[in-house]
Amino acid sequence: MEARVTGRFAPSPSGPMHLGNLACCLLAYLSARKQGGRFLVRIEDLDTQRCKRESGEDALRVLERFGFNWDETPLWQSERDAAYLAALTRLSSQNLLYPCFCTRAELMVSSAPNLGDTKTVYAGTCRSLSEAQIREKRLTRTPALRLRVPAEEIAFTDTLQGPVLERLDRDCGDFIVRRSDGLWSYQLAVVVDDGASSVTEVIRGRDILSVTPRQIYLQRLLDIPTPAYTHIPLLLDPCGKRLAKRDHALGLDALLASHSPQAILGMLACAYGLLPRPVPITPDDLIASFSWDRVPRTDVRIPEGWI
Ligand code: GLU
Repeated sequence: MEARVTGRFAPSPSGPMHLGNLACCLLAYLSARKQGGRFLVRIEDLDTQRCKRESGEDALRVLERFGFNWDETPLWQSERDAAYLAALTRLSSQNLLYPCFCTRAELMVSSAPNLGDTKTVYAGTCRSLSEAQIREKRLTRTPALRLRVPAEEIAFTDTLQGPVLERLDRDCGDFIVRRSDGLWSYQLAVVVDDGASSVTEVIRGRDILSVTPRQIYLQRLLDIPTPAYTHIPLLLDPCGKRLAKRDHALGLDALLASHSPQAILGMLACAYGLLPRPVPITPDDLIASFSWDRVPRTDVRIPEGWI
């Protein structure tokens, strides 16, 4: 039996919700609802230092204000330790993990999702440490856990970005599943949670496209079905410059002080090709006419006067 279409929106509440988040939520919502599917929200607050409970709750309130609704109580990643540990144990029992003692400075890499399109392939420094070396290094440093990747190709077709092909060892390298400070990696958490919620389609910013092959590899190892992927064009400012999260003008709270939620959605829907003109609208008004064919493949500009 075909699984019921299930989409989701998974914001990281490390700052206030912004227009880019809203665009992602809108497209994920419309895609799922157009197919008569379920829509879920997950709060990606793995990093409890940077993501406060209130910011997650604010995000849910803002989404409700814009007229979104969801079919299950939202998952909070900060409450999912047991599920991530079970996945880690499974990988570990297949002998796929090894401790990595490299410092951040040594690596110049991070496991955060928003790395843009740049990523560094791990040089394999700790891949073949002996038991004795590991014991000795453990005396002074707590290791991260890294997943050993084979010389295997991962290929998939993104709805908007087209075919993607990556050779894991050459283009990705062994990657971290648990950081040395104990935090779960974004890759592991996303894969486990999408699997637990039976997510069939993932819609998110094009800036995360580059980590998708490693997520697909994790799905294979954990027997989790691979969802369909759609990485959406990013929002640019009216001059065509990429927006940064720290741009406060982008914050939905600031925009809501001078515009109705419907007017903001109308502007976004128009920018993403879903409306010919920016008229005030609710998410549900856009379901009937939604189609990925209308959404541009290239990045989208916010019209003059909005930020
Ligand atoms: N939490 C990520 C973000 O806010 C999105 C992750 C995902 O959709 O898979 O950028």
